[in-house]
Amino acid sequence: MRFDVLTLFPEMIESHLQYSILKRAVETGIIDVNTVNPRDFTLDKHKKVDDTPYGGGAGMVLMPQPYVDAYESVERQENSITIMLSPQGEPLKENLVKELANYDQIVMLCGHYEGFDERIREIIKPREISIGDFVLTGGELPALCLIDAVSRKIEGTLGKIESANDDSFADGLLEYPQYTKPRNFRGLEVPEVLLNGNHKDINEFRQEQSLKRTKERRPDLLY
Ligand code: SAM
Repeated sequence: MRFDVLTLFPEMIESHLQYSILKRAVETGIIDVNTVNPRDFTLDKHKKVDDTPYGGGAGMVLMPQPYVDAYESVERQENSITIMLSPQGEPLKENLVKELANYDQIVMLCGHYEGFDERIREIIKPREISIGDFVLTGGELPALCLIDAVSRKIEGTLGKIESANDDSFADGLLEYPQYTKPRNFRGLEVPEVLLNGNHKDINEFRQEQSLKRTKERRPDLLY
């Protein structure tokens, strides 16, 4: 999987890839993350990428020329999708993550300041994706969420030890509660059933807990 991220702050993307599971995925070639900075494409001698909004109002709007030129510089693979990170997009959920993992290339546009000049949308026609009903200062964190979530679905990213099969949402439910050593911590005991080595009992207990948790916390997932 190749990710191409259009961003004014490439270091934000690169720094996240220097740790843990994603670092390993990059090193083993399972994912390839490339950044493109629209500022490198501006025709303005001051490398300006934003300007005040027509019609007035606060903030700065990202200009179309640097973004469209930067986008057009990205070499496209056959099985590729373009995503604009936007609070106005469709919400990022498990099914969408799974769908995106089927592509060979995801090109992402990260906004900043007041966001994109509308003509960037009109020309590039990206799929718009939001990571939630709140507004962040830029698209870099949303892009990283997407890279992280999609990478977990690609074979080889997670070792056996980090298997995602039981994770929340994998089968539509939230995950059951987990415990590790010690058996007793501040008077709180690990449930007995997890200690008896009976896998049938353990599976039943976990399924019950998973359902209970989902009913309590996210009943919307059940209906
Ligand atoms: N003025 C825009 C609006 O009200 O819809 C918000 C612009 S926001 C401050 C700047 C950039 O951050 C956006 O262009 C987008 O790339 C990114 N962003 C902010 N919140 C986001 C979210 N919830 N999901 C995805 N991207 C988001």
